[in-house]
Amino acid sequence: MRNSGRLARARAIVKEIEEKCETPIAKLQLVADDMMAEMHAGLADEGGSKLKMLITYVNNLPTGYEKGLFYALDLGGTNFRVIRVQLGGKEQGVVKQEAEEVSIPPHLMVGSSHELFDFIAMRVAEFIASESEEFKLPEGRQRELGFTFSFPVRQISLASGTLIKWTKGFSVEETVGEDVVAELNRAIERQGLDLHVTALVNDTVGTLAGGRYYDKDVHTSVILGTGTNAAYVERADAIPKWHGLLPKSGEMVINMEWGNFESSHLPLTEYDLSLDAESLNPGEQVFEKLISGMYLGEILRRVLLKLAKEASLFGDIVPPKLSIPFILRTPHMSSMHHDTSSDLRAVASKLKDILEITNTSLKTRKMVVELCDIIMKRSARLSAVAMVGILKKQGRDSKEKQRTVIAVDGGLFEHYALFRECLEGSLVEILGTEVASSVIITHANDGSGIGAALIAASNSQYWKGLFY
Ligand code: BGC
Ligand code: MG
Repeated sequence: MRNSGRLARARAIVKEIEEKCETPIAKLQLVADDMMAEMHAGLADEGGSKLKMLITYVNNLPTGYEKGLFYALDLGGTNFRVIRVQLGGKEQGVVKQEAEEVSIPPHLMVGSSHELFDFIAMRVAEFIASESEEFKLPEGRQRELGFTFSFPVRQISLASGTLIKWTKGFSVEETVGEDVVAELNRAIERQGLDLHVTALVNDTVGTLAGGRYYDKDVHTSVILGTGTNAAYVERADAIPKWHGLLPKSGEMVINMEWGNFESSHLPLTEYDLSLDAESLNPGEQVFEKLISGMYLGEILRRVLLKLAKEASLFGDIVPPKLSIPFILRTPHMSSMHHDTSSDLRAVASKLKDILEITNTSLKTRKMVVELCDIIMKRSARLSAVAMVGILKKQGRDSKEKQRTVIAVDGGLFEHYALFRECLEGSLVEILGTEVASSVIITHANDGSGIGAALIAASNSQYWKGLFY
């Protein structure tokens, strides 16, 4: 193909994906309405919607009065963390906090349940063994741990729940249907540790608790990281599928599992369909696959591959690396997207380092940036509209001034500046400036781990025994 022919063909492909990914306001409003309708359906019956709307058994969020030493374990993405936190009650707040982060060896993400939990428990044991004197527990007291497990779980109490399915590249078949707290407790026993899991929480729920600890107007939390999801505070009497006693607070935190949301108004492309079909969980987490950090770079790779094959964008042969799934990560995409140099040097160097593509023209590099923009915008705008769906459900999308804080965490939100900008801009666009001015997005940095410790603390039997 001649150069001009190549570019014209490439342009046509880019234009097509751009049109398919468009999210004009009218379309977004339809998505928000669908989100609301699915929320109602998911709350009505178990299995009433693709949106699971899971009951979390968290009906008390932290108040600030929590006291004592608590642990948390945060498993959910490519890393896991162990945390200890010394809570000092209303006056002192978080007195001291320590954490250790370990990356999970990839083979454990698709291996056996036993191995995965043993690995985790071993790291916890090391963490506790290295504990300094300042963190001593009172005599006779067992260590209590909040377990942040960021996958869909059907809970039957605050401290137990069975795994519904894995997401985000995990696939340990044996664990599906098992009580993950029991699995962890057994692994902890095998390590001979004196430690008990007293709360099981999703990362969204942990983030909600962590956010609420610092700001009483936090009613919703969102994770935009490797995966995506949200949790929010619902009225317990607005959950028809809840047949238990109404909690004293009258509230129940709901883990939406919004990554599994589906709507006929979602802007899906051929790239999304093939990504889904070839994924570990086809047909599942369709919304997540349009939005979260695990997938954005992979969508970009798929478009580039098509451009290489059908428009010879990178020369006569298709660069071999471009055919490797998940080789192009969202952080790579972000750094290309943020390249402000006039000759797009960062784009050139990422293409070279990651994909071994050299000698690209400036026009080609501009096209890559354009694609980053198209893919990122769709993700940010869909995230924004999903938040609006929750605000609508809570009746917090109206003009009556009512401060509403959404606690957000996750690498996509934290590190992809243009994404965050677009997300915030879209919220204003959808809600209007007046309403949007009372909706505050805060970054709940690592709220999910500390939140689990806080939930463990507010539900600690020891603590209750001591003060009530
Ligand atoms: C999981 C959720 C989790 C989210 C963010 C999704 O893949 O299903 O449980 O909250 O990722 O970590
Ligand atoms: Mg984090």
